[in-house]
Amino acid sequence: MEFQKLYDFTYSLTKLYEKASDRTSFVEGIKSAFSLFFAINEIKIYLLDEYSFLLKDFTKPWENLLDDDFTNEIKKYYDDFLFKKSKYIALDNILYFPIVYKNKTLGLIKIKAVEKINENNDFFKIFPLISAQISMYIVQLKNNEQIKISSKFHQTIRNIAQITQTQYELDYILPILGEMIDGFIQEHLIYIFIKNKNKKYKLIWPKKCFDNKIYDYLEEITPKSSVIIKEEGKMGIFPLIVDLKTYGAIVAYNHFDKINDKELEYLKEIKSQAQITLTSAKSYVEILKNATMDALTGYNNRNQFEKRLKETTSTAKRQNQPLCCIMSDIDYFKKVNDTYGHAVGDCVLKNVAKTIKKELREYDIPSRYGGEEFVFLLPQTNIEEAKIVAQRLRSAVESKKINIEEYNIKDTKEISVTISIGVSEFDKNEKDYEMLYKKADSALYEAKESGRNRVVVKN
Ligand code: GH3
Ligand code: MG
Ligand code: MG
Repeated sequence: MEFQKLYDFTYSLTKLYEKASDRTSFVEGIKSAFSLFFAINEIKIYLLDEYSFLLKDFTKPWENLLDDDFTNEIKKYYDDFLFKKSKYIALDNILYFPIVYKNKTLGLIKIKAVEKINENNDFFKIFPLISAQISMYIVQLKNNEQIKISSKFHQTIRNIAQITQTQYELDYILPILGEMIDGFIQEHLIYIFIKNKNKKYKLIWPKKCFDNKIYDYLEEITPKSSVIIKEEGKMGIFPLIVDLKTYGAIVAYNHFDKINDKELEYLKEIKSQAQITLTSAKSYVEILKNATMDALTGYNNRNQFEKRLKETTSTAKRQNQPLCCIMSDIDYFKKVNDTYGHAVGDCVLKNVAKTIKKELREYDIPSRYGGEEFVFLLPQTNIEEAKIVAQRLRSAVESKKINIEEYNIKDTKEISVTISIGVSEFDKNEKDYEMLYKKADSALYEAKESGRNRVVVKN
C-alpha cells in the first residue's frame, strides 16, 4: 500500500476541515483530496433534507433535486446505502458512497472520475475510514451552520425587542422590522402589511409586491388565526395581532421550497416578538402623547414640532419677521444599518444630531421629524442667511468622524456620513402654514435627486 499517498490524502482532508469556510469550498477541497488518487471531473454531495425528505445538493441548499436530471439515479443509490448498507458503489468512472453518521444514512457523495475506477486501488482498503471522516466533517459543518443561524436568530429577536428604545412611531418601526426579519430569513421573500382604516391591507415593506394573490390570502385572516399556510406550504402568513385586533401581517414566501418546521418555529417566534414590540410601541405612543422630546436625540419630537411650527409661523406673521425651515436627511443611512447594525445606526443618528445642534443658535428649533430626518425652524432668519447655516450644517456633518470603537466592528473605528438639505422661507401670504416645511421637504428631495450631500433652496 502506498502509505505516503494515503497519509497525504487524510492529511489534506483534515486541513480542509480546518480551512473550509463554506460548503462550496468544502466540496472543492474534497475534490482536490480525491484527485491525489484519480483525475476527477465532478464531485457532488447530496444530503437528505429532514423536513421535506428530499435529497438536496449540498452546495445549493434551496434548490431540491427535482430540478436535477439525476433524481431517480441518486434516490436509487441512496436507498441502496440505506437498506443494503453497501460501503460504496463503483460503476465504470463513477463512484458513489454514503454519508453515515451514528448509523444514520444522511446522504451520499457522487464522484465522477475521468477514467474507469479501479477497485484494486489501495484507496478502497481504507475506504470505510475515509467515508467516516468525511461524514463526520459534513455533520460538523452543518452543526456549525446551525449554531450561526440560531445565534443570528437570537440577535434578530433581541434587535426587534430593542426597536422601541429609540423609535416609537409605527411608520418607522415597521420598515425596520421588515429589514431585520429579511436580514435573518434570507431564503424567503418577506413582506409586511398593515390593515388601514378601510380594513384593506397595505404593503409597508419592501416597496413592491408583485404577487397579487397575497392580497386575497390576507383577507382570510381572522383575529384567531395563528398562521396561514398557502402555495403548497411555500408561503406562510403570520398575522400581527395587537390588542386583540388584526393589525397587519408578516408574509414569508419561498418560491422553491416549502417552509420547513424549523423556519416555521423561527417565524412564529419572530411574529410574537414583533407583536410585543408593536404593542409596547402603541402604548408608548399613548404615554408620549404629552411628551415633547425625542429620547434618542434630545430634539423636539414630531408632535412638538407640529406645535412649534404653528407658533413660530404665527409669530413671524404677527411680528413681520422672516422665518426659515431647514430639513435634513442622512444619505444612504440604510447602508450604515446594513453594514454595521442598528446599534451603530443609532449612535450615528445621535452624533449627527449633536454635531448639528452645536452649529445652531440658542433660539433655533431642532426637531426629529422621524427616522433619520431632522427639521429646523430658524426664526428671524432670511433665506440668504438660512442657506449659509445649511451649508455650515452640511459641512460640519461631513467632516465629523464618529467614533464607533465600543461596538467592536472589525477594522472600523470611526465612520462619517453626509446629509442632504432642503431650505425654504416662510411666505407670510400663504394661508397653509405647513407649506413652510413641505417646501423644504421638496427641496430636500431635489437635493437627493441631484446627487446628495448638498443644499437645495426653494423660494
Ligand atoms: P437616502 O436618504 O440617501 O435616499 O438613503 P437612505 O438609505 O437614508 O434611505 P431611506 O430614507 O429609505 O432609509 C432610511 C433608513 O433609516 C431606514 C431605516 O432602517 C433607518 N432608520 C430610521 N430610523 C432609525 C433609527 O431610529 N435607528 C436606526 N438605526 N435606523 C433608523
Ligand atoms: Mg429618510
Ligand atoms: Mg436617508
